[in-house]
Amino acid sequence: MSDDEATPDTSPTTTARVVLVTGGSKGIGRGIAQRLHAAGHRVAATYRSGDVPEGVLGVRCDITDPGQVDAAFTEVESALGPVEVLVANAGITRDTLLMRMSDDDWSSVIETNLTGSFRVAKRATRAMMRARFGRMIFISSVVGQLGSAGQVNYSASKSGLVGLARSLARELGSRGVTANVVAPGFIETDMTAVLADDLVKKYTDQIPLGRLGAVDDIAATIEFLASDAAGYITGALIPVDGGLGMGH
Ligand code: NDP
Repeated sequence: MSDDEATPDTSPTTTARVVLVTGGSKGIGRGIAQRLHAAGHRVAATYRSGDVPEGVLGVRCDITDPGQVDAAFTEVESALGPVEVLVANAGITRDTLLMRMSDDDWSSVIETNLTGSFRVAKRATRAMMRARFGRMIFISSVVGQLGSAGQVNYSASKSGLVGLARSLARELGSRGVTANVVAPGFIETDMTAVLADDLVKKYTDQIPLGRLGAVDDIAATIEFLASDAAGYITGALIPVDGGLGMGH
């Protein structure tokens, strides 16, 4: 066999980046921080309660507070350097039917999921433009496209992220900054642990792959989007949902 015919080296190689994950204390954000750290990136994650995985720089931050967002970025910049990969993951639910939804149910979800993501993206932008490199990844949800009874606030916040990311993709593409959305389906975390068993079964029956997703299903996709190999992907909405939302 000649050298040309030798099996190519397929081991993953990617540039180590400074990564900031919001909401890294548990669930999907924690799994993302853990996986990106294991992949060799320098990772920081925000927390409000609890802690962050070992080896990850924890920065206390409530993303509904602009001062705390600014301070968190400053802390990451001085410890690790400017943020190159931003994963806007922190999110909440306040589910109830529209007829019963209070203004506070609406605004707290929009403020955290959508405005919080706007706030961290804005704070990350200047350094990314200066570096002529950046990856912004927004964690949406399958219900952002499908809609969901009892979740008008959450669903609106999650589809809002698509418009936000696609506008950013257009604003920042010429500076080497990409903006993409990952839309998880039904993932086993604290957020979904509160759902009634019959509802979980109803959803599972609708998932072509026949199982709920694991945190690492999402983290693996984020690892790819942060890698050198994903450099030509921007403005994409990537479902990681076992097929639950396909067709949208
Ligand atoms: P969890 O409830 O397990 O974790 C949410 C994380 O967000 C926590 O770390 C929490 O921090 C943080 N957070 C919440 N509010 C704020 C805030 N104001 N400021 C800073 N951090 C905050 O949720 P999941 O891991 O399940 O969800 C993560 C993301 O994935 C969310 O955006 C969610 O909408 C999305 N998603 C989840 C799905 C699922 O099936 N689980 C499906 C589709 C999307 P702390 O606990 O320290 O307050």
